[in-house]
Amino acid sequence: MMIRFAIIPLLLALNFSMCKRHESAADSSQPATPSAAAAAVSPAVAPAASPPKITKTVVDQTAQTIIFCYHRLVDKIRYPGTEITPAAFEAEMKQLKDAGITVISMQDLLAWRRGDKNIPPRCAVVTFDDGWKSQYEVAWPIMKKFGYPFTMFIYTEGVRGGSLGGGEAITWEQLADMRDNGVDIQAHSATHQDLREGHNIMLAAPGGKRTRTKLTGPQYEQWVQNEVVGCKQLLEQRLGIKVNCFAVPFGSYNEHVKEIARNAGYEAMFTVYGQPITFTSPADSLGRYAIEANKPKVFVDAVKMIGTSSGGAAAVAEVGAANLSTQPADGETVHTALPLIKANLSRVGAIEPGSVQMRVSGLGVVPVSYDPKTGTASYQVTQKLRETSCTVILSAKSEGKKVEAHWTFGIDATAAAAAKASPSPTVKK
Ligand SMILES: [Zn+2]
Repeated sequence: MMIRFAIIPLLLALNFSMCKRHESAADSSQPATPSAAAAAVSPAVAPAASPPKITKTVVDQTAQTIIFCYHRLVDKIRYPGTEITPAAFEAEMKQLKDAGITVISMQDLLAWRRGDKNIPPRCAVVTFDDGWKSQYEVAWPIMKKFGYPFTMFIYTEGVRGGSLGGGEAITWEQLADMRDNGVDIQAHSATHQDLREGHNIMLAAPGGKRTRTKLTGPQYEQWVQNEVVGCKQLLEQRLGIKVNCFAVPFGSYNEHVKEIARNAGYEAMFTVYGQPITFTSPADSLGRYAIEANKPKVFVDAVKMIGTSSGGAAAVAEVGAANLSTQPADGETVHTALPLIKANLSRVGAIEPGSVQMRVSGLGVVPVSYDPKTGTASYQVTQKLRETSCTVILSAKSEGKKVEAHWTFGIDATAAAAAKASPSPTVKK
């Protein structure tokens, strides 16, 4: 608290345009929930008379989890990038149930990754960013109806009464009520800005005037400490909780920021680059799917992703990509981070329709479409590719044998850089 109050008058960063209107990447690392803690601890707390018997939980390392990130729930959508109607949200929560996907808590996900607790094979974690009162008033009752746990990622200056907390912001009292009822509350920085050194940020000068600036050197270090560490301390002190997850604002971070977060005791960091989380996904870049009113396909794709099975480990026959008339072609460079990926499997032989699987580097298994009439397998990328090269692995079964093709295409540096600069997945119309 003291550190925070000392720093804020000098360095308060304010950003009207961004405030409360962005997806963010968060990282969360919290101690086990009461249930997880009990499950993990119980074997070791046998009465002193009997020898301590440690039984290690056997966890299913093949389980997969998709993490969703929501913002505001409103009846009338004005900002489709960060809003969703309560009806659409409730329908999505129902779809998870209908698809046999178990909604688990963030802390159970982390306990599973530590090997302390098992989770069902197909899971989802639901998170809400930025701290809006509609999350308390509208989302929470819906989550209660389904009995789903969830996580709130809060940026501390955005709470009501903070320098960025307006009338739609959640209050500390509401957060305390959520805490008392088992809602997981985690960190999302202090002022919600790009955390990398030398990037444009808004700072409040002592008179309250906000100015755009770039911080470097010791000034930057002091500022970023408050964003990453001060935020955690404030949440922990204000609410009497342990914070172990950090959602990175906009997903804009780098190795230095990761190091600060790790040193501060964060167990996991989150971006908005959605992908299924596996047992071995790197803890400092766990991707979440940002769900927006104007992109319902992101939700549908995410659900499909963990519904895809990879089939057996049979012998694989390699097929040259040139035989498949792939698009983009092997070695080609495209000028978009959202390419349509296609291949024609008709020359491979009779394909078993349900067997077609596509993997894309950076995305993993994607929900590929296969048209048996034309033999075409295709996938329209919906989350921007962020690297300058992309490898596709397409596999299928033909006459009982697994066939597989690999190819790599380039994404021109400008498109890839633009994708990195705007981490929220955006579909170009
Ligand atoms: Zn955010």
